[in-house]
Amino acid sequence: MTSRLGVLGWPVAHSRSPAMHNAALLALEMESWRYQALPVPPELFSETVRSLAVLGFVGANVTIPHKQAALALATQASDAARAIGAANTLTFSGDGEISAENTDAPGLISALELSPRGLRALVLGAGGSARAAVWALREAGAEVSVWNRTAERAEGLAREFGVRAVRTPEGADVLVNCTSVGLGPVPAADRSEVSRGVAGTPVETGPEVPSGRAVERSATEDRALNQLALTFDQLAEYSYVVDLVYRSGTTPLLAAARAHGLRTLDGLEILIAQGALSFQLWTGRQPPLEVMRRAAREQESAA
Ligand code: NAP
Repeated sequence: MTSRLGVLGWPVAHSRSPAMHNAALLALEMESWRYQALPVPPELFSETVRSLAVLGFVGANVTIPHKQAALALATQASDAARAIGAANTLTFSGDGEISAENTDAPGLISALELSPRGLRALVLGAGGSARAAVWALREAGAEVSVWNRTAERAEGLAREFGVRAVRTPEGADVLVNCTSVGLGPVPAADRSEVSRGVAGTPVETGPEVPSGRAVERSATEDRALNQLALTFDQLAEYSYVVDLVYRSGTTPLLAAARAHGLRTLDGLEILIAQGALSFQLWTGRQPPLEVMRRAAREQESAA
């Protein structure tokens, strides 16, 4: 019998999880396992999830907009999922139990490849992914602040998690973007302006980076930074810039951070890290990270 896995979302067709997990299953010669996209609208979420176990599903990832609903219908949940208020991983056992876990939080910490203990971290955003990031960074010993466009939401989140809300972004060791700013495609005109520096375009020359190379930036980068209440020069107040957003090509925030010569981490690495933790939970096998990375990034170049 096939052991089935999947990702529940609405929409979910763009998800890189099926390619990433199926590549891992193939690499480990787990021929009887399959991972598939499960497009489910909110009104059908509970009944679909309840029927998955009967259909031979071992587990499922959960993405927008179902993460809170997944936690609510689970029969048991980890402390992390409860504290964050959302689950991205469900596991079905034969006796009807549905277990909820949140691997977004430990996925972020493992993708960071450094210990946040004692570091100052500024989280931008107050939505679902910001909740997971704030909780994870705080648990890992960082001194966390949170900024959000709608200040009241940042203040509410900060109160709930015992961290600090800021009205304007302050300098920190690690900057983590958990807003959806930068999700849209870069206009073709803007891309060519950046790469070729055509005369009369909005390309601007910024400060000199240590290499002596003049910093160039595009209108798209400036617009995204503006939405995050940051300026290009202010980015130099961070050492490590993390963007949960992923899409084909670099996000404007990471492009600007790289122009400053800062260390960066893209959202795809965080997706891979959370997926690897879910894979291990369901299969008990060591996830082949490099295989998963290659499969997720191949989809990026195909997108
Ligand atoms: P969400 O709950 O909808 O929260 C969206 C956040 O973005 C809110 O804080 C919102 O601020 C802010 N925002 C939206 N538009 C904005 C704008 N124009 N200017 C400034 N702030 C804006 O979303 P989410 O689930 O947290 O996801 C956020 C992003 O992270 C998405 O792009 C998602 O794809 C990505 N993500 C990636 C991973 C991964 O594995 N890499 C995992 C989860 C999420 P307001 O409160 O003011 O509206």
